[in-house]
Amino acid sequence: MKSFYNKKTMSIIVLFIIAILLAFCFILNYFSTDILEKDESDNIQPAEEDIIISDDKEDVREVEHEQNITEDSIKPNELGKVMIIMYHDISKTEGEWSRHYDNFRQDLETFYEKGYRLISIKSFLDNDINIPRGCSPMILTFDDGTRGQLNFIEDENGNLIVDPLCAVSIIEQFNKKYPDFGTSAVFYINYPVPFGQIEYIRQKLDYIISKGMDIGNHTFNHAKLGKLSKEEVEKEIALHKKRTLEYLEGYELDTLALPYGNSSKQNIDYIISGEYDGIEYHNRGILLVGAEPALSPVHKDFDPLKMPRIRGSQMYIDKWLKYFEENPSEKYVSDGKSDTITIPQSLEEDIDLQKIDGKKLVIY
Ligand SMILES: [Zn+2]
Repeated sequence: MKSFYNKKTMSIIVLFIIAILLAFCFILNYFSTDILEKDESDNIQPAEEDIIISDDKEDVREVEHEQNITEDSIKPNELGKVMIIMYHDISKTEGEWSRHYDNFRQDLETFYEKGYRLISIKSFLDNDINIPRGCSPMILTFDDGTRGQLNFIEDENGNLIVDPLCAVSIIEQFNKKYPDFGTSAVFYINYPVPFGQIEYIRQKLDYIISKGMDIGNHTFNHAKLGKLSKEEVEKEIALHKKRTLEYLEGYELDTLALPYGNSSKQNIDYIISGEYDGIEYHNRGILLVGAEPALSPVHKDFDPLKMPRIRGSQMYIDKWLKYFEENPSEKYVSDGKSDTITIPQSLEEDIDLQKIDGKKLVIY
């Protein structure tokens, strides 16, 4: 009996040791795999050759696993987020609906210094973002068509000039100093008197367009669209388009900023497209009021009809600039090439291949 127990005890001890050894091997293997995977992502290993991927439709796109993509330490991420800044008035007052012109000028300095470059809302929607490698796109929007956005004054000789303290002029002056910053901006005006000087409406709209800036729809009467009937919504948007095209013949007015950020599920379809009195409209981009950066136009969740904006105030500008400094991997960083979309491998599942529209996808 004694030797039986000894044998049994021995067997249990041996089995126990084997179990411990197996567990040890498993843990060792687990951690070594984890470390290896980490190393791979840190070093960004290029694939050995280009591959073609297909999603079994007609949709065959070239994907390049590029070498040397980060050799200059820049990590392009064209799936990152983009700041669309929402300003209202630019004036000598700093407040909820006005940015002091000195602070506005300082905003541009800060944006430039931190690598932001201006792009238009249209090129954003077209996924046609052409800025230098390593820079981040930014869109400036101005609501309500205030006089401080574009003001005409007379100089000492009685000649009409653009007030050097208005937003358009400040952007132009800044661009003279830093020509690679750009002058893109979009003005979501409403009527009857955009930019506050009835005698200069046409000249001002012409001026905006001649500088490569854009005009957008903010409804004719700055209407709370969510409270209106289908017919009233269509009238508000169509009359704006009609009046704008009277000044700017042939202009493509195709984006809208919701006054008060207000819309409703019931009438959103009519805010997007509609018709009133023979005037048809289609808004391919719709801007909200708040309150975070927008997704990249090639992100699978990007919705051009619900683009969020960041208020152009000290607090919100500081907040989001700091956010991207602390989370650089979330920021859109350009690869500097207009015919490629470059993204880190970790974000591969977030891209909508339908949206890259003929561009080459580069994954690293
Ligand atoms: Zn407004």
